[in-house]
Amino acid sequence: MIGAFSRVPVPITLCLEMYPVTEFSDLKLNPALLKNLTKEGYTTPTPIQLQSIPVLMEGNDLLGIAQTGTGKTAAFSLPILHRLASSYKPLAPRACRALVLSPTRELAGQILESLRTYGRNLKLSSDVIYGGVPINRQIRAVAQGVDILVATPGRLLDLVNQRALFLDKVEVLVLDEADQMLDMGFIHDIRQLVAQIPKARQTMLFSATMPKAIAELAASFLKNPVRVEVTPVATTAERVEQTVIHVETSHKQSLLHELLNDPTIDRALVFTRTKHGADRVVRRLDLHKVPSAAIHGNKSQPQRERALSDFKSGKIRILVATDIAARGIDIDQVSHVINFDLPNVPESYVHRIGRTARAGASGFAISFCDREERAYLRDIEKVTRQKITVADNPLGVGFVPPPELIAAGKPHNHENSGKRPHAHNQARGSAKPHSAHPAKRREESDVKRWVSDKLKPAGEQRASQNRRGFAKRSGR
Ligand code: AMP
Repeated sequence: MIGAFSRVPVPITLCLEMYPVTEFSDLKLNPALLKNLTKEGYTTPTPIQLQSIPVLMEGNDLLGIAQTGTGKTAAFSLPILHRLASSYKPLAPRACRALVLSPTRELAGQILESLRTYGRNLKLSSDVIYGGVPINRQIRAVAQGVDILVATPGRLLDLVNQRALFLDKVEVLVLDEADQMLDMGFIHDIRQLVAQIPKARQTMLFSATMPKAIAELAASFLKNPVRVEVTPVATTAERVEQTVIHVETSHKQSLLHELLNDPTIDRALVFTRTKHGADRVVRRLDLHKVPSAAIHGNKSQPQRERALSDFKSGKIRILVATDIAARGIDIDQVSHVINFDLPNVPESYVHRIGRTARAGASGFAISFCDREERAYLRDIEKVTRQKITVADNPLGVGFVPPPELIAAGKPHNHENSGKRPHAHNQARGSAKPHSAHPAKRREESDVKRWVSDKLKPAGEQRASQNRRGFAKRSGR
């Protein structure tokens, strides 16, 4: 049945219902692979594996719409390992037989780890190429040739341009997290790389989302692909218990500390929008003796690896990350995802909260939403087709963050900017009790106005916000 579908010249979508429930042992995989899967405790393929492995083993191209956490790495790794192991070839110098492109070094490293785990005892070599580390070791690593190479596009193109690697022996190409690679501006690198790969190849493209640009990429790189789709955006979101807490920007850090008093939050991934924001959160957690680390593009590879392994081992309870750095990170048992800042792209929200619902588990996601992020929240609710439950702010109305938090760094937005004099004065160690402070009163009236605003119909809210904007601009 699958073979017949695969000859249809347009992408087709396979439904899980087409297949009877299948074990890995029914998939006709190489016995060594099956042994390794059993050792890993995998018995039943995930839906993406169930749909992809048979069509890939028949040699078809594949367009997979699936997010991290669905088991997509094994979905493409197992057929690659099976294929290469059933047609061993001597290694060609400066060449590889299978190439997996990944947007980030973390994801590339994890894919390599999975390939090596699943492919143990198959006598296939594999390696990884990514930027941010010296290139010479990588040039040496590919000099003898390698069966499977995992790489980020930029560094791979450097190697190819230096003629340290040739792509004319590539038989299988995987573009993993294609939407992310496009977001990161890799499109030109990818096009240059693919142009050097023989047309007679098997190509797989995986993407969590299917914007027009990805559809175009798929159309130009894939031949009669079989299309498989799992966990549409709403499905992941449904597995995660989501709440949102409305909070002033300047209170977010205190809110985080308050939440962390809850011991059930034992391994939390905290997302910020910016790298500096991530560092700031870590600095302030430090101040409160909460072990944490940040992971983002400004961190060196060893720093990222240490942060990840400390988080995995439980040495640190909190990992603060930006969206890009967190993509593809495979950490089981993240109890909570905390959106310190809401992302302005709804798909990022879905990716983020997916980190706490790995391999079918359910999880918790708590989002902090300040005034400026309310529009983002509306977009997220539209995309996920879910209303996110509003939880009470445990700090209560009229809360003012403790001075040490404000003094601990230059907070963003209006904190310490002079527009919010309470923070400014506290940072200088104002001796006045909070409630008597004129800035504190302003703060309280701000909160009251916001609460009463929330109860007004949308049109009126806007009118009142405009009035406030006018008052601010005119100095009233
Ligand atoms: P991925 O989407 O490839 O990042 O995989 C998500 C997680 O699911 C990883 O921790 C895998 O080790 C795990 N996993 C993948 N396939 C299976 C399976 N068939 N059974 C159990 N766990 C799996």
